[in-house]
Amino acid sequence: MERPYHISLPKNILRSDALHEYILETSVYPREHKQLKGLREETTKIPWSRMSVPPEEGLLLSLLLKFMNAKKTIEIGVFTGYSLLTTALALPNDGKITAIDLDRKSYDIGLPFIQKAGVEHKINFIESEALPVLDKLLHEMKEEDLYDFAFVDADKTNYTKYHERLLKLVKVGGAIAYDNTLWMGAVAGWKEEHDLLPTDFKIDRDAMVELNKFVAADPRIEISQVPIGDGVTLCRRLY
Ligand code: SAH
Ligand code: CA
Repeated sequence: MERPYHISLPKNILRSDALHEYILETSVYPREHKQLKGLREETTKIPWSRMSVPPEEGLLLSLLLKFMNAKKTIEIGVFTGYSLLTTALALPNDGKITAIDLDRKSYDIGLPFIQKAGVEHKINFIESEALPVLDKLLHEMKEEDLYDFAFVDADKTNYTKYHERLLKLVKVGGAIAYDNTLWMGAVAGWKEEHDLLPTDFKIDRDAMVELNKFVAADPRIEISQVPIGDGVTLCRRLY
C-alpha cells in the first residue's frame, strides 16, 4: 500500500516535536494500559496506522468518561480499536459500548488485546455503514436507554449528519466528541502549497471547517475545541 499522502503534515498539532515527546514520555506512556500499548504497537505494522487515536488523547477520553460516570457509549469509527479499548477500560464492568465500523478486518487486529484486557463483554461491534445504524437506533431507542457519550471518528463528510442523529441519541447533559477537527492544522492558515494536496484531503478539510462553524453556532450544545492529537471537539447536549 502507498504511504498516506498527508504523511508530511504533522500528526499532532503541537508545533514542537520536543514538547510532544515530553508529554508522551512524562505523563502518557507511563500511564498507558499494557494492552493499549500492545494494540498501539501492533497497529504500527499496518498501513494507515496514523488513524489511531493517539495515547495522550486516549487518556483525556478515559478521564472524561470517568468524570461523567459514563455507562453507555457509542463509537463511530473503530479501526483497530485504540479509542474503543480506552473507552472499554474506562467504563464500569456493566458498561456497554455500541461500536460501528464498516470494516471488521481492522477491528480483528485489535480484538486479541481487548480480550486480554478482559473488556470484550462491554462491546457490541456492528460491521456497517454508520448512518443506517444510527437511524435504526433512533427508531428503536427509548428515552431511558440514551447514550452518555458518543465518539465520532469516521468519514469526515458525514459528521454533520451524525451530529443531528447523535443529538437525539445522546441524553441531555451527555457528551459528543468529534475527532480530527483541526485536520492536521489545515483548517486554518490555508497556504498555496495546500492546493497541491489530493482532492480527498481537501474535501475532508472543508468538511471539518464546515462542522467547526456549525457546532460553534449550534445553541443545543456547549463546546470546547481541545487542541490535543489532531484536535477533538467536546460537545455537551443542553436540551
Ligand atoms: N477511532 C479509531 C480510528 C478510526 S479511523 C482508533 O482509535 O483507532 C476511521 C474509521 O472509520 C475506519 O476504520 C473506517 O473504516 C471507518 N469508517 C469510515 N467511513 C465509515 C462509515 N461511513 N461508517 C462506518 N465506519 C466508517
Ligand atoms: Ca481520528
